[in-house]
Amino acid sequence: MLTATVSQGTESADDSASSHTIIFVGSEYYPPLESLSEDKLPKGFITDLQYAMANSAGSGIEIKLMRWEDALQSVLDGRADAVALIASKERSEHYDFTEPFYYVAHGLFTHNDSKESVTLADMRSHKVAVVKSAYAKNTLENSGYDVELVLADTELECLKLVSSKEVQACIEVIVTSKSLVENYNLDVKLSSAPFWPRPYAFGVKKGNSKLLEELQSQLAQIIVDGTYSDIYAAWESELEWKPQSFWKSFGQLSWLVGSLLIIISATFVLNTLLRRKVMHKTFQLEEELNNSRALHKKFMFNATHDSTTKLLNRKALFDLLDNRIEKTSDSQKEIFVIAIRITNIISIISVFGYRKAIDIVVSVAKKLSKFEQALSAHFGDGVFVVSTDNQQSVDDIIQILSDHSDLDSNQIYPVPVIGVYEFAIAPEEKPPRSSELVRKAITAMNYAERKHILVADYSPDIEPDSRNLKLLSDFYKVGCDQFVLHYQPQIDVKSGTITHVEALIRWQHPTLGMVSPYLFIPLLEESGNINRVTRWVIQEVISFINSHKPQTDNIMFSVNITTRDLVDDSFVEFVREVVEDVETNCLIFEVTESELLEEKDKAKWVMLELESLGISCAADDFGTGYSSLSYLNDLSVDEVKLDRSFIMSLHKNDRTHKIVSSTIDLAHALGLVVVAEGVEDKETYQVLSDLKCDRIQGYLISKPVPGKDVLPLLGVVPEF
Ligand code: C2E
Ligand code: CA
Ligand code: CA
Repeated sequence: MLTATVSQGTESADDSASSHTIIFVGSEYYPPLESLSEDKLPKGFITDLQYAMANSAGSGIEIKLMRWEDALQSVLDGRADAVALIASKERSEHYDFTEPFYYVAHGLFTHNDSKESVTLADMRSHKVAVVKSAYAKNTLENSGYDVELVLADTELECLKLVSSKEVQACIEVIVTSKSLVENYNLDVKLSSAPFWPRPYAFGVKKGNSKLLEELQSQLAQIIVDGTYSDIYAAWESELEWKPQSFWKSFGQLSWLVGSLLIIISATFVLNTLLRRKVMHKTFQLEEELNNSRALHKKFMFNATHDSTTKLLNRKALFDLLDNRIEKTSDSQKEIFVIAIRITNIISIISVFGYRKAIDIVVSVAKKLSKFEQALSAHFGDGVFVVSTDNQQSVDDIIQILSDHSDLDSNQIYPVPVIGVYEFAIAPEEKPPRSSELVRKAITAMNYAERKHILVADYSPDIEPDSRNLKLLSDFYKVGCDQFVLHYQPQIDVKSGTITHVEALIRWQHPTLGMVSPYLFIPLLEESGNINRVTRWVIQEVISFINSHKPQTDNIMFSVNITTRDLVDDSFVEFVREVVEDVETNCLIFEVTESELLEEKDKAKWVMLELESLGISCAADDFGTGYSSLSYLNDLSVDEVKLDRSFIMSLHKNDRTHKIVSSTIDLAHALGLVVVAEGVEDKETYQVLSDLKCDRIQGYLISKPVPGKDVLPLLGVVPEF
């Protein structure tokens, strides 16, 4: 029998059991806990709690008040979801309860005419009214009290039976019946001390644990956030009514017990809340952990991979290869290490720019990454190292790198050189380090490049080591004593006369003969001996100038220096002292363009100081490095020397012609002098002269020659 409903939220009542609208039922005669207002809307302490709970969870809610028996039944047969009730052992057979949120006690209500105070014992053999399905009814039935039970449909009806003296008394929850008596002006009073204090909780149909947990958590929420207290405070005057003295003491007692219950419930619900929070936090942490795992993975990837090609980087390859060597060493296997250099990468950069060069490098990386079993790394600057234990893969890699059928004929393609080192692991021997295997593959690769062949296999006799070691140990023995300087003249294009010479070092070795600087300069540079050599060259040049006056007057002498000299703190001081020995400014220092820009910051200040000492600076090998004229301008460079590789193909290649022509124009616009080196024929000379190149050096004019042989050329117009 439905007497009144009210709902809130978006969803319909029909699907409420499975959705988020919770249908609460209750008795319509249970003020101030729940009852109907004048306009038939549910109101009361419990009603307010239910709204607050729904609010806290953002769920829909519907409240239907009716006869108590119907209310209890509608939860059992699924027409409603929950009911606020006394939690008892008997009821727990059909209902599951939340933690209690309130506390009720029972009392005997008698007619106003009856005596002041009665007890349950006084009711023996008397008619006592109870509400159908009420806690009091069940308890009386089960406890064996000798009373005649009269069943009423509602709490109000129960009291009316007392008022009309049809029964001696009724047993009811005190707080609600007291309100009913007042509200309906009944001739009824509370005549007993409170008994059967019982917890009040929300009940759901037994087994509906999902809903139970939901209600539990909503309840927890409103207790924790203070809403419960606010609602209690709002109903306090009706929940705790005075003025009877015995009630006062009960009130205190009930409050004590009530508070205890609330504390216990709060602890429980706090626990539930905490558990939820912990679950939520765990979820969050897991998510964070996943994120940080992903980040770590990315970080690890970046730390072990080359950013351009996404292949392994140098360090990762060494580590993984070491690992492989260790693992393979038991089973006596072969390991192949392949080193690959894209030889035309520098010229691609200078002709087409970095973007194109990166594309080329990436295209090679893509081809290599197809060999999934192999370890493939990019060491930078178009140098790749691959390791595999499969001979077929080696052949396939060589094949795939030299095959450009995927490109059309006018596309630029990578020109590789390849070195292969095949290593058989012997179980008894100490396995080699990966770096040693890679070094040998690179040695083979360098050999292939020198010999202008595509592939070379490593063998001990291509090791340059022995000679290098000998040169180095000889240098430690004799220092600069066996060095000689050769001089190569430069012609001033406008006047046609020799105005400049470049000093070029040679090693007059007692057993190896005349050794090229290409062999020993890098060696001395790497071993940290170049500063000594540079100083020797500068002193030698100055003494040459001074001892061959007047031929050397007005002739400028170029000396090759390295960035190791520029960054050497005592270099400028050394130069300052030695230039005091020469009368006029006659020195030009040549530094390769790429080195200059790599040490740009330091170089800038040193070059300014050199300038103040009257020394000019030239950017050597221009075109093979960054080819950045504007940078050079910043560095107080006075001249650029166009690299031999450009000059050689100048009159054969249109593109080179354009590059050289525009470089000369731009250099001039920036106030730089342009020198071309490696000029071997008249045609090239003519082209450069037409392009307004300032000076020319090369075999056409003269090879580098000993000092005594260059003297006759100085200041003259040579014939060629
Ligand atoms: P570089 O400074 O670029 O010197 C020019 C090189 O080109 C010289 O080789 C020279 O002999 C060579 N060359 C000149 N004209 C022609 C030509 O028409 N055709 C051909 N094919 N080659 C020509 P060199 O003397 O063997 O020197 C090689 C490199 O060694 C030099 O390149 C320079 O980088 C370095 N070097 C030479 N002397 C010294 C030195 O005293 N100190 C330092 N740090 N490096 C030096
Ligand atoms: Ca030079
Ligand atoms: Ca050069």
